[in-house]
Amino acid sequence: MKAAVMTGIRQMRIVDLPKPSIKNDGDVLLKVAVVGVCGSDIHYYLTGGIGSKYVQYPYLAGHECSATVEAIGKKVKHVRPGDTVAVEPAVSCHECPQCKMGRENTCCNLKFLSVPGELSGCLCEYIVMPEDCCLPTNGRVTHEQAALCEPFTIGVYTIQQSHLAKGDKIAILGSGPIGLSCLTAAKIQSAAGVYMTDKLDYRVEFAKKAGATWAGNPDKGDVVKDILQREPLGADIVCECAGQQNTIDQAVEVLRPGGVLMLVGIHESDRVGFLINHIRRKEITIINVRRQNRCASRAIELVASGRAEIDSFVTHRFKLEQAKEAFDLVADYRDGVVKAMISL
Ligand SMILES: [Zn+2]
Ligand SMILES: [Zn+2]
Repeated sequence: MKAAVMTGIRQMRIVDLPKPSIKNDGDVLLKVAVVGVCGSDIHYYLTGGIGSKYVQYPYLAGHECSATVEAIGKKVKHVRPGDTVAVEPAVSCHECPQCKMGRENTCCNLKFLSVPGELSGCLCEYIVMPEDCCLPTNGRVTHEQAALCEPFTIGVYTIQQSHLAKGDKIAILGSGPIGLSCLTAAKIQSAAGVYMTDKLDYRVEFAKKAGATWAGNPDKGDVVKDILQREPLGADIVCECAGQQNTIDQAVEVLRPGGVLMLVGIHESDRVGFLINHIRRKEITIINVRRQNRCASRAIELVASGRAEIDSFVTHRFKLEQAKEAFDLVADYRDGVVKAMISL
């Protein structure tokens, strides 16, 4: 089968790999249809690693995908050959203490598509996944929407964990696909004001078009002042989706006392600082988001029912042969890119 593998920093090549086969009775062989290029893929592309996870070349990226069921193991019950599925990239064991607590996203034996040392990625024609990672779309969403549901689910989970109540004011720092997913989920939960920032002007404009109450660029003005001018009491919730020290500091400044700081972004450095006296005096709650837990079906339902409009996030489409082009575009934030999708 064809696959787009990384062979070094900023290097990618189309190669022929052996087609995987079903090994366990609960496995499903999937023909990959569409793969979204994620910020984490780009981290691997540009730096060869995230935190302590370093890639070994050749490395197969990709974890946001939709697929068609090609074949099923003997014990598979919920999907059949021909079904379209959204793929949940996290394979949890369902047996460890974390899984038994309902925390599959922090499963002690978690394996995630494309994470070095765990599972190889989905930028290839076929993958094998356990049945519970195959979420049937019942023809209600397109392949592209099904692939987009993976990042959208992070937004749905983030807003769920923030306990956003109707009428809350929320700031989202970082207006990439995850920030926009938080925006979409927050609006569905009837947030009264959504304030967004990004260092890229085109993403500031994109956030406005996507429904932000206000959006601004922290390099062009004082976004903390701008937001507090509009919301003098401060934000109830801030989602930090940029993974930067600056945005953590801005979040603390923008939050009202008793507010909630959601840490969503992936940081380049292993250590960050907090304005500890601000956090203490304001009694801010800090919640970390580890991908998502048990929100995938809800995300698919929100898209299928039309309540969540995420199609507009897709700004660029490529074929597998153009994978390098897609990665370069996203890595360089060229041509107004928000989400690039690769179809097989
Ligand atoms: Zn992703
Ligand atoms: Zn587990």
